[in-house]
This record gives sequence, C-alpha cells and structure tokens, in this order.
Amino acid sequence: MNTLDCRDHSCRFSRDKSGQRTNGGCRCLKTVPEELRMKIHATFHVLELQVGRLTEALKKIDAMRKRLPDPDFAEQKNTASGIAEIIQAALSEKKEGV
Ligand SMILES: [Zn+2]
Repeated sequence: MNTLDCRDHSCRFSRDKSGQRTNGGCRCLKTVPEELRMKIHATFHVLELQVGRLTEALKKIDAMRKRLPDPDFAEQKNTASGIAEIIQAALSEKKEGV
C-alpha cells in the first residue's frame, strides 16, 4: 500500500502515477528540514538500487529453480549454492550507489 503520494508527476514515492497529476516536483517532504530531506532521498535511492538488484537476483534464481526437481542430488546442491551466491552478490553491491 502506498501512503506517500503528493499527486505530482515526478513524485519520488508514488508507485501508481495514473490519473491527473500536478507539475513542479515532488512535495511529499516539503515540510521536512532540508538536511533530513536530503538524507531521506539518499536512503530511498539506495533502497531503490537494492530492490533493483534483488529483483535481478530473483529472476536468476527463478531461472535456476526451473531446473528443479532434479533427480541428481549433487546437481540440486550446486543449484542451491548458485542461488545463495546470487543473493550474496546482490546484497554485497548495496553500497555501490552511495
Ligand atoms: Zn511526492
């Protein structure tokens, strides 16, 4: 559920930008002091990057998961290890965009 939405076309937090919208930029945090607002935007940006990486990781995992069930236990172990590596790689990149 999205509760933060100023109804602007460029709202930073809205996930559904349908319907009539204003111009002029996101006003969701207009009453927040600038320093804090910048930190919130930076944190939100990092979270967006992480979500993107994890989404990519999930796509890879899903592709690997389609190989299961495999009658070969060793192959399943390799697949599980591959999935764990993908998740770790996605999470270890989390500070890259800061
Ligand atoms: Zn907004």
